[in-house]
Amino acid sequence: MDKCIFCQIASHHIPADVISESDDVMAFADINPATKGHILVIPKSHTTNLFDIDEALFIKVLQLAKRIVRIMPEALGCSGVNLFHSAGESAWQEVMHFHLHIVPRYNKEELRRPFVSTPANKAELKEIASALSQKLGNK
Ligand code: 5GP
Ligand code: ZN
Repeated sequence: MDKCIFCQIASHHIPADVISESDDVMAFADINPATKGHILVIPKSHTTNLFDIDEALFIKVLQLAKRIVRIMPEALGCSGVNLFHSAGESAWQEVMHFHLHIVPRYNKEELRRPFVSTPANKAELKEIASALSQKLGNK
């Protein structure tokens, strides 16, 4: 994965403002922050997104995210956070190396939700729930 930008950050071939690092995971500042303190958490080994990440590695990413989120209010003065992850181009993923965004939120800033929620068709909800639950093997 020579050309992957986050692999190069993980191996320190490209600089980043790293805030935490272990053998498996790393967190660094997003170069185009959505808000002050926007952080990305990545596995150091190349994996594309939530569809293919190893479950144990995903847990390590989440554990590091949890540690970071816990100290953000005191460190940054934020009053909330959004976590988000884009899996696939259709979901806006641009860098094809797994990353979890941590976006600190402040009381008076102008970020807007990227989607508008609309009331569901009840029959369709039942169909979808049933299709997913059958695939999961739930009874
Ligand atoms: P995506 O749209 O794939 O979910 O998010 C990719 C994120 O990576 C973007 O928020 C973008 O600003 C960030 N990013 C892209 N290239 C670099 C880089 O070279 N260094 C850092 N620190 N962040 C990057
Ligand atoms: Zn990579």
